[in-house]
Amino acid sequence: MNPNPVFRAIEAALCGYLARSVVIQSHLPVGGGCINNAFCIDTGAGKFFCKVNDVKKYPGMFEAEAKGLQVLKEANEIFVPSFIASGEDKGSAFLILEFIEPGKRVPDFSPLFGQALARMHRRTEKYFGLDHDNYIGSLRQSNKKHDRWVDFFIEERLLPQIQLAGFSGLRAKRFENLFKKLDDIFPAEKPSLLHGDLWSGNYMVSPQGAACLIDPSVYYGCREMDIAMTKLFGGFDIEFYDAYNREFPLEPGWQKRTDLCNLYPLLVHVNLFGGSYLYQMDSIINRF
Ligand code: ADP
Repeated sequence: MNPNPVFRAIEAALCGYLARSVVIQSHLPVGGGCINNAFCIDTGAGKFFCKVNDVKKYPGMFEAEAKGLQVLKEANEIFVPSFIASGEDKGSAFLILEFIEPGKRVPDFSPLFGQALARMHRRTEKYFGLDHDNYIGSLRQSNKKHDRWVDFFIEERLLPQIQLAGFSGLRAKRFENLFKKLDDIFPAEKPSLLHGDLWSGNYMVSPQGAACLIDPSVYYGCREMDIAMTKLFGGFDIEFYDAYNREFPLEPGWQKRTDLCNLYPLLVHVNLFGGSYLYQMDSIINRF
């Protein structure tokens, strides 16, 4: 029997899922995550991916992640790992997912990824938001529904982070001025199903060599948010954007809105890490 209580609970959850008795033979740490402890769990019945965290620190995080993965899976455009089980034990929460054995990119990986993301973005809803709240990194993300993108962007994305950062004075005034301009800046498009945190660390290469989305912060929003996020830390291949634009062309001027969209993840980074992100954020607001 595994001596660590959370691994005993994980073992029990796997027995329930597999409908037979299995024993965790090893749980090797997996690097690359930002918040949780991740493991590759080996049982006699195959490998599983598992994340563990402190339930008091991040209540509901794994339930929201499981729901988000399910929404993306139902869209059926990009591969996502299947949900296996989640639970809690003695202050720890866990999420068990299908283990993705990283593969080698197929030659047209980037255009296929761009095309598939565009198709996913065609999935729409009657509102901007989602039927449940979730997390962006380790911060809570409200998905209260709105009829207009700009209202959602201001009230559910920018303002909560601005308040958390405690901005006042000139910086707060600059944001207020920016808010008045947003209606004229963003195109009037339908809500798109978004991954919500699409930086390069949040996709993997599936065993078949295609893109596999992980760690989403799903909502229905302006699709330029996902595109902008891909560019925040370096950008994806040009073929990715070309294929996306062939499938579902972005509205003219999207490149100029990239920095605006990225005010949200930058604010999140200011709240999580401070420092240099503040400078990057200020330089964007000062331009608009
Ligand atoms: P965190 O929530 O802490 O940011 P991630 O969900 O990003 O954690 O996962 C951490 C790392 O684990 C990823 O960078 C990736 O390399 C790997 N990973 C994520 N999901 C799976 C999976 N289903 N199968 C195998 N490896 C995975």
